Formats: sequence, structure tokens, C-alpha cells
Amino acid sequence: MHIHTIDNMHLGRQHVIATFLLTGTEPALVDPGPASTLPALEAGLAMHGHTLGDIRHILLTHIHLDHAAATGAILARYPNIRVYVHERGAPHLIDPKRLLNSARQLYGALMATLWGDILPVPPQQVAIVPHGGAIDLGARHISAYDAPGHAKHHLVYFEAASGAAFVGDNTGVRLPSFDYVRPATPPPDIDLEQWQKTLDLIANLNPQTLYLTHFGAYHDAQRHIAEYRERLLRWSEQVRQGLASGADEATQIAQLRDLAERELSTMSASERDLHQQASPGEQSWAGLARYWRKHGDTLTS
Ligand SMILES: [Zn+2]
Repeated sequence: MHIHTIDNMHLGRQHVIATFLLTGTEPALVDPGPASTLPALEAGLAMHGHTLGDIRHILLTHIHLDHAAATGAILARYPNIRVYVHERGAPHLIDPKRLLNSARQLYGALMATLWGDILPVPPQQVAIVPHGGAIDLGARHISAYDAPGHAKHHLVYFEAASGAAFVGDNTGVRLPSFDYVRPATPPPDIDLEQWQKTLDLIANLNPQTLYLTHFGAYHDAQRHIAEYRERLLRWSEQVRQGLASGADEATQIAQLRDLAERELSTMSASERDLHQQASPGEQSWAGLARYWRKHGDTLTS
């Protein structure tokens, strides 16, 4: 049995959005990605001798469009696949109307280009996974854990036998061959206290490998988590101070982007662009600003 990283080639670029293929008696995908990149997913499966028709299970870390938008389109073709999701995410898979309305406000006319056609998932195919729940994929056994921080409906999947932790966006964004871990903090659910607890949970699983949707497999799990904790605090402190300064929004966003640019200063322009595509700085600012506005009493210090 293997775990393969498939590159969805988002907007034609490498290393932005990954899907993980878990081979075995009942093949499974973790986060099938956008509907717009289904041809790349199918090509990636073919490289490993598989087709979408072989897939029996789809495990969703969360329902953000870059992770889950293809689910309905896949189920329309292969209606027997079982889809695993957090209970807070399930209603939006079954009826994506509200999710699409809020995404349209964020992405406007770019919706179809970015994410493709987002179809509802038949309710009888949706399995709600509780905290600590077990998922049987034939010869594989996966445990699921509530993992709020990036999103309220985020799950982390862990396979004890291989030490594989599918962390979605909870340990940020990191590109292959780099050590740098970038925060991914879009609106509306960012919760820094919950996030620290989720990082504790992941660290305590003592994973051999972290599988990040953005992007790939990393074997230095504890170092990665420690760096992520630190950088998440640094970015959130930058946003907190920006809000407290009373500067206008554009200035504050520019200040966060400056901080990110300084952190990425040894990289090429195209490498910096990839980080921005995988986790846009202005969205990270908006998510952290929303968090701090809810905790307004801390803004004056
Ligand atoms: Zn996300």
C-alpha cells in the first residue's frame, strides 16, 4: 500500500494544490481538489495505474473549494463513492448554495476558472465523522479528529500504521524543497486558541509524515509544527498591531505582505508567487483581522 501525492496543476501551475491517493483494497482520495482541475487529477491517478472509477472513498479535511469543490462532480459520475466530512461541513456539501454565495463575493467572475462547476453531493453518500471516529478503508484504518483553527469544520486524518497525518491547512503552506512554512488564515473561522490546541493534537499523534494540501509530504513533522506555531503568532501579532495603529486597511495589508516578502526574500519571484497563489496574503490578513476584531479588548495594548 502506498500514499501518492497527485498534483492538481491549479491554474496550470505545479505545487499549489495536492490530492493524496491511498492505494489498497479500497482506494481512497484525501481532498480531491477543485472541479476545474479534475482532468489533472485523472491524469495523476493514471500515472499510478488508477482511475476515478476505482476510488471507493473520499476523505475531506474541510470543504473549502480548493480542497473539496470536485466532490460533487466526481459523485455525479461515480455515485457509489462514500464521502467523509465533519458534521459542520456536511450540510454545505449536500446543498452548496450558501457556500457558493459567499465564495462568489470573494472570487466574483473568477469562480468558474478557479474552482469549476460545483455540484451537490447526494446525502446518502455523506458520512459524518465524529471526533476520534474510525474509518475503515479495507486494509487501512484511519482515525479522524476535530481540528478547528483554520476552519471550524476541519478534520485531521491519521493512519497509525504508517504514521501519516493528513493535516489539510492546519499546518500552513510549504513548497517542496523549502523549509519555510507560510500561514493560511482566510476568513471567516480563524481561531488562534483553538488552532494551538489543534497543533498540540497533531504533535501528540507523533506523525512520521505530514501531508499538506499545499503542498506534499514532509518528514520533519515536529520541526515543521514548531515553526508554524511561531510564524502564525508572528503574522497574527503583525495584524493585531496594524489594527491597533488605526492605519487604513490597504496599508495594513501591505504591511503583512511586506513581512511575508521579507520572510521569502531568498526565493525567486516565481517561488514567491506560488506561495501567494497557495495562500493569498490579503486573505490571510482578512482572516486574522476578523479574529482580532472579535477579541477587540486586546487591540489597545
Ligand atoms: Zn482551507
